[in-house]
Amino acid sequence: MKENVHILGGGITGLFMAYHQVKKGNSVTLYEEKDTLGGVIGTLNKPEGLVELAANGILLTDDIKSMLDDIGLSPVFPKKASKRRYFWINQKLSQFPISILAGTKLLYSIFLKKLKFDPNLNFEHWGNQMFGSSVTKNIIEPALGGIYGTRLSELQPETIFSKWDGRGNSTIFKEIKKNKKKTYGTVSFPNGMGDLVTHLVSYLSPKITIKTGFSFSNFKEIQSLNGSVRICISLKKLLPILDSEIKLETKPNLLTISSVTRFGETKLTKKSCFGILFGKNEGVHALGVLCNSDIFVGRVQNQLHSETWIYPDLNTNKSDNSIESILETDRCLVSKKMDPPTVVYRTTWEGVFPAYDANLYKFNQVLDQLETNWSSQGKNIRFYGNYRKGIGLRSIFESTMF
Ligand SMILES: Cc1cc2nc3c(=O)[nH]c(=O)nc-3n(C[C@H](O)[C@H](O)[C@H](O)COP(=O)(O)OP(=O)(O)OC[C@H]3O[C@@H](n4cnc5c(N)ncnc54)[C@H](O)[C@@H]3O)c2cc1C
Repeated sequence: MKENVHILGGGITGLFMAYHQVKKGNSVTLYEEKDTLGGVIGTLNKPEGLVELAANGILLTDDIKSMLDDIGLSPVFPKKASKRRYFWINQKLSQFPISILAGTKLLYSIFLKKLKFDPNLNFEHWGNQMFGSSVTKNIIEPALGGIYGTRLSELQPETIFSKWDGRGNSTIFKEIKKNKKKTYGTVSFPNGMGDLVTHLVSYLSPKITIKTGFSFSNFKEIQSLNGSVRICISLKKLLPILDSEIKLETKPNLLTISSVTRFGETKLTKKSCFGILFGKNEGVHALGVLCNSDIFVGRVQNQLHSETWIYPDLNTNKSDNSIESILETDRCLVSKKMDPPTVVYRTTWEGVFPAYDANLYKFNQVLDQLETNWSSQGKNIRFYGNYRKGIGLRSIFESTMF
């Protein structure tokens, strides 16, 4: 039977949710506070080339391929030369920043060591016990820092790998195998990630009701909706609304991220690469950098080079240094030369991500309980977004499928 589904929030989570609901044949109304859809995702077409405001790519799976076919959008695959990925460790670029002995220990930890999470240990301490300090510092710290927008000491393993059995019965290999789906790497689109939003909106517009400039401020309004409710607004906007329903003992921590796209005449690295991940205390403030024009064709004009640098909250308001000048110092350290940029575009997103820490784990348990309570009262209201089952677009796409 056709179901009435109300989707709150028209960011990518709400748009993915609307897509899946349309495929199920349901009657959908999408409510968005702003006049435009897509949330943080968007692409600016500047004279120097494309500038992504948030996500630079999406991990392609068979399900995402089939959505792209439906919405008439072709993915752009990375250039072969961009396969190289660097870590910045001990003041130099390295593709494999650990010794053979540490590598052997890593393999042992993945294939044979029992996987046991400990709620009293943050990721840094847990990682040191599980994999050894070299692997934790030189591989896991830079890799997760670039994805989760903060340092390992602020992260909790069971929050990040919430689907894994971490009770000491399984191994990392078994859990990866259990949860593995075929993937085809990270892709973008001809006009950047904004293309994904515009194509989804064109596909959905004739099939659903879209109410822009429409905001919900408390749960009374939400519960008065007739049908299922899918709450797809960002965590930052959800927290004040939740106050009308439940008093939280511990609130999740929100992170501020800056994405800075820099166009210049010289390349960052001699050989083309996907990007660089930076370790902690390695002299660089950035978490990572993507070498856009090495990765995808059509990103730049006039033979410029484009890079996107990701910064955590550096408290630059309190210091004389702007993120833009910190970037030039970071870049000089890596490239060993000081080249002025042609132009730099910065977007700072305050509170855009939850920290994947112990607070978030507890918060999700509260939301699970809330959903169960509502369900026992015959109300079908559920929460979706980058604070529930993973931060990236692929996880959001998969979580909104069911
Ligand atoms: C700098 C940066 C780089 C990233 N890079 C990648 C990447 O390369 N790959 C990847 O997979 N992911 C990446 N991500 C993560 C991904 O982009 C986000 O997790 C995702 O876009 C979040 O989408 P959302 O719809 O949940 O939230 P949002 O984009 O915040 O959308 C929420 C929507 O809800 C609306 N809203 C808020 N309150 C209300 C209300 N009361 N009523 C109605 N509507 C409301 C808002 O206006 C907004 O449109 C990146 C994120 C950032 C910030």
